[in-house]
Amino acid sequence: MLDTARRYRKEDLSPPAHVESVLARIRASELNAFVAVDEQGALRDAAAAASRIERGQEDLLLGIPIAVKDNICTKGLHTTCASNLLKNFVPPYDAHVVELLRNCGAVVLGKTNLDEFAMGSTTATSSFGPTKNPWDMTKTPGGSSGGSAAAVAAGLCDGALGSDTGGSVRQPASFCGITGLKPTYGTVSRYGLVAFASSLDQIGPMGRNARDVAVLFDAIRGHDPRDSTSIPRQYSPTSLDGLDLHGLRIGVPEIFFPQGLSREVERAVRFAITVFADLGAIIVPIELPHLRYGVAAYYIIAPAEASSNLARYDGVRFGVRDSDEEDLFEMYCKTRSKGFGDEVKRRIMLGTYALSAGYYEAYYRKASQVRTLIAGDFRRAFDRCDMIAGPTVPVTAFGLGDMVDDPLSIYLLDIYTIPANLAGIPALSVPCGFGDNGMPVGLQLLGPPFGDETILGAAMTFQDRTRFHEVRP
Ligand code: GLN
Repeated sequence: MLDTARRYRKEDLSPPAHVESVLARIRASELNAFVAVDEQGALRDAAAAASRIERGQEDLLLGIPIAVKDNICTKGLHTTCASNLLKNFVPPYDAHVVELLRNCGAVVLGKTNLDEFAMGSTTATSSFGPTKNPWDMTKTPGGSSGGSAAAVAAGLCDGALGSDTGGSVRQPASFCGITGLKPTYGTVSRYGLVAFASSLDQIGPMGRNARDVAVLFDAIRGHDPRDSTSIPRQYSPTSLDGLDLHGLRIGVPEIFFPQGLSREVERAVRFAITVFADLGAIIVPIELPHLRYGVAAYYIIAPAEASSNLARYDGVRFGVRDSDEEDLFEMYCKTRSKGFGDEVKRRIMLGTYALSAGYYEAYYRKASQVRTLIAGDFRRAFDRCDMIAGPTVPVTAFGLGDMVDDPLSIYLLDIYTIPANLAGIPALSVPCGFGDNGMPVGLQLLGPPFGDETILGAAMTFQDRTRFHEVRP
């Protein structure tokens, strides 16, 4: 992205030529990363960007081709959440983040594949079929923002937006060897993001390195009164210089390295931590005692919120209506039975159960209390350190179709990513090595609330020292 922007300024490359070549790569790609491509719109916006650059405009995103996850609304362009239920939905408005990107002159290429309604970790629950990992086409790119991650890794765009409710930006970033940020809750407006679990959802930028991610992040964050959780706060641009790591305290909880962690992930992550130490950081052991309950709490809270958010897809206000109904109730039932896939139905049932009278106290309220304890663990940890480091995912990318019949094992893979969503804190995945089979490994950096720039800056310094982010599939 930044290298493209530089080449535009040197007149070594023009936005129409670059966008044209990216579109050609998308056409030739077999990854199934995109569910819709707006070729005409992209070429029109590339031409407009070219003339703005000629007039001397500085914005780094001018003419930069960006891919947008298909649960983020784009005016006049299908937004399906990879669900049969929304396959005919064309939003009449742009999401706040898309408006901001367009205002910066970025070129929105199209929409990327995801797990249906962003529920999943493989992109395999998409009604458009799975996306493949560009490092090995027999493997999953992760999910749910698997289309965005695969597109960035394969050079089908310069950067992308994903959404992260329990890890959906960071986990596919880790599996595809790219950098992805889950921002502090409330820094990026969710207006126009199709709601999954509203108290956890956050849109995040994905790119080939931390500087690209920082540029995208600066473009999309900021207060928006249309999202009631958006924080009224002024932000100044993130420094692209990298952070001086001397004296920076990095907390490493030993529970991040349990028996079951894959050896290749442990090796790469521990190596990355030694690089930080070499760069002057002080490694401090910390404890996060309640983290082990994170997955259990998340898989109550997220389905509970999802069951409520997805009630609107009834075939009346939204959704492809089933037409051979006898009465209204039957129409609701048939529309939802036919429209939603198995994983989405599983979440709606789990969530409805957890919220129902008599069970609410035992499940939803308990999970909310655990959430508070986890947030407290982080608050105490950040008294002793400036950021926390560990793995993003306990494994590297696995085979397409593996574990499809075993949702519980897939849920457990979210163990490292979920806590940041529960606590609302920022977290970033950075490439830090490769496993035995050559698949990328991600290092996760977690920061205190509004520590997004600190973890991005630390990642820049790490990437100035390492080359993992430069290796391409
Ligand atoms: N894998 C998690 C889930 O299935 C996270 C999804 C997400 O962040 N959108 O819920």
